[in-house]
Amino acid sequence: MKVTEDLLKDALRYGKAFTKFGKTAQYIPELRAVNQYYLGVCTIDLEGNVLEAGDTRIPFTIQSISKLASLILAIRDCGADHLFHEKVGVEPTGDPFNSIIKLETKTRPFNPFINAGAIAVASCIKGADADEKFERFLTFTRKLCDNDEIALNQAVYESERDTGDRNRALAYYLKASGILEGDVEECLDFYFRMCSVNVTAHDIAYMSLVLANHGIDPRDGEELIEPQNAKAIRALMLTCGMYDGSGEFAMTVGFPAKSGVGGGIAASLVDRMGIGVFGPALDEKGNSAGGIKILEYLSEKMGVSLF
Ligand code: GLN
Repeated sequence: MKVTEDLLKDALRYGKAFTKFGKTAQYIPELRAVNQYYLGVCTIDLEGNVLEAGDTRIPFTIQSISKLASLILAIRDCGADHLFHEKVGVEPTGDPFNSIIKLETKTRPFNPFINAGAIAVASCIKGADADEKFERFLTFTRKLCDNDEIALNQAVYESERDTGDRNRALAYYLKASGILEGDVEECLDFYFRMCSVNVTAHDIAYMSLVLANHGIDPRDGEELIEPQNAKAIRALMLTCGMYDGSGEFAMTVGFPAKSGVGGGIAASLVDRMGIGVFGPALDEKGNSAGGIKILEYLSEKMGVSLF
C-alpha cells in the first residue's frame, strides 16, 4: 500500500491508544512536564512530498536522535575507520541506553547510540571548545533537517546539565580508559547541548530522508555523508537504534530507526522516504510508546519490513 494522508491518520488513531501506557522521561525534570498525549507522524519522500498527521509541528528536544547527526559529523571530521576502530564498536548491548556496566569489561563502548558511545563520539568532533563544537553541530543539524530555525532549548539544556551525573560518570570513566579525547567537562557540556536542540517530527523526517537517500540531500544533490557510511549508519539504526528494544522493533517494525527520550523516532526507508514521529510518552526502554505503534501500523500496511 502507498502512504497517504488517510493512512497516516489511521496510524495516528491506532498509536494514540498507546500513549496512556507510557510516561514522559522522568529523569530529566524539564521533560517530565511535557503533555504525554502529543502524537504526530510525518513522511517525506524522495520527490519532496510531505504528508503529516497529528502533532508534527510541535517542538520537542532531539535527545538521542542527535546521535545520528553527531556521528555523521564525527565521521566527516575524523573518518569512519578511526571512529569504529578506536572509539566505539558496532554491536548492540542489550543493556539500557545509559548503562555503565560493560565499560569495565570492554574498554570501547559497544556502539555509538548508547550514551557512553555517543559521548566518546562527541569528543571526536572538531572545535576549539564546547561553543565551537556546538555551533558546528547546530549548523550541520540544520542542514540535515533542512531547517535553519533549529535552535537550543535552554531550559532543557540546563535541566540535563544539572541532573546529568550518570552521563558525567560515563564520561570520566571513558577519560580514564583513554577513549575520551580532550577536556571531559567541555565534552559533556557539548553533549548536553546537542541533546537539547528543539526539532519537530517534520525535521527528523527530513534527516531520515537524507539517510534513506544514501546520504545525499535530495533537495540540492549535496552529499552530506558518503553512501557507504549512510549504509553503515542505517545498519546501526536497525541493530542498536532502539537500545535494548532493538530486537523486538526489528521483529515488529523491521526498518532502521533511531529514538530519543524527547519522544521522537527517526526512521529511514531506503530509496523511499524518511519518517518522523513524535510521542513523548515512553515505554520502559525509553522509546516512544505511541510512536512505535504508528511505525508498526505503517510497516504492516505498507509492507515495508525488511524481513
Ligand atoms: N540526553 C539524554 C541522556 O543523555 C539522551 C538519552 C536518550 O534520548 N535516550 O540521558
